[in-house]
Amino acid sequence: MKETAARDGVSRRWALGAAGGLGAALLSERLGRAQDSAAKVEDRGANIRISALRAWRVGTKVYVKIQTNLKLTGWGEVTGLDPTVAVALAHSLFQLLDGENPTRIEHLWQKLYRSHRDMRGGPFMTHVIAAIDMALWDITGKAWGVPVYRLLGGPTRDKIRLYPSAKAYKIGTGGPHPEAGTPRDIERLVAMVKQHRERLGPDGLLMFDAHSAIPPAMLIQFANAVEPYDLLFIEEPAVPGNIETFKRIKQSVRVPLATGERERTIWGFAPFLQERCIDILQPDCCHSGGITQLRKIAALAEAYFVPLAPHCTLSELGLTASLHLAASIPLFLIHEAYLDGHIMPPGVARKNWEVDKDGYASLPQGPGLGVEVDEAMFEKVNADPKRQFKWPTPTSPDGSVRDY
Ligand SMILES: [Mg+2]
Repeated sequence: MKETAARDGVSRRWALGAAGGLGAALLSERLGRAQDSAAKVEDRGANIRISALRAWRVGTKVYVKIQTNLKLTGWGEVTGLDPTVAVALAHSLFQLLDGENPTRIEHLWQKLYRSHRDMRGGPFMTHVIAAIDMALWDITGKAWGVPVYRLLGGPTRDKIRLYPSAKAYKIGTGGPHPEAGTPRDIERLVAMVKQHRERLGPDGLLMFDAHSAIPPAMLIQFANAVEPYDLLFIEEPAVPGNIETFKRIKQSVRVPLATGERERTIWGFAPFLQERCIDILQPDCCHSGGITQLRKIAALAEAYFVPLAPHCTLSELGLTASLHLAASIPLFLIHEAYLDGHIMPPGVARKNWEVDKDGYASLPQGPGLGVEVDEAMFEKVNADPKRQFKWPTPTSPDGSVRDY
């Protein structure tokens, strides 16, 4: 648009200056040509409309398919919810999408998120909106015939570092931890870090996931004891909910701290940046509100020079959406990705990117997200007793409820 305007400006000035020396016919021909080229610019997305939304439970996840009047379809994934509720909520939200232009992604995100003032935010609403958001980016990329990362400003890197890999590995508490750590508890965790550092060597990345399961005082003791082993970060050093806890830990610990997998939207992440108590943010594309929110979270973090290490317990569908985002942001550290089939059997969502021997993913190819979903496999996945959703019941040895 700007280029056309500039050309028009030049040709008009040229025409005024040269009017005395050129014939009127030549002048009008040149101006006419400029107008013609402007007239050829059309909005190819103007006539597409959402015509249907379908949502299926697929194991512990939900896959959402949005259909359009132009036969283009888009896919998105819900994670971290009771899938029965997520399916019902996705179908309910179709009321706000029916007949809308799917390429108005920002507008539709706002329409869904701000529709009902009493249901705004929270995991149930935001995770379902995230899946719809991914599907809208998928449709828009397909409409333009480009990978989604092209729509996000184009690639900022040639490949995307993933973990776990041979040289990037995360260890952790493995779940609920005793309330008060004995010296032996802390020694055991420190020994684990030491052993893995020795195994990886000085050129490997080692991360530790505290999983919100270590009480702050014990976390501080542990973090200071493992300082010689150069952790890339300690993840989830505290239970989300009170920024003062994170500030206290940050003031007492020199090991970099990361968190964010249980935060949603820019409003969930802003306090960590404003209070300068987190070194790395870990938004999950599905938890945090989809590609539309992740790009804003990345921009907020960039202002504070905080890189993203996106969280991911998604199947290849949602993971690929997150990789399109990771491919297009300036401050990126590493991306979590599990491709061993424990999240979703191979073939349900077929990606078209590969991981090299060093643990880097190639850029996902489009158009759209570039993931092919095999609906015929859903029934088989759902029949597997190991892939049923169950509410967790984390308990301490004394029978009380635990964070994890
Ligand atoms: Mg984690």
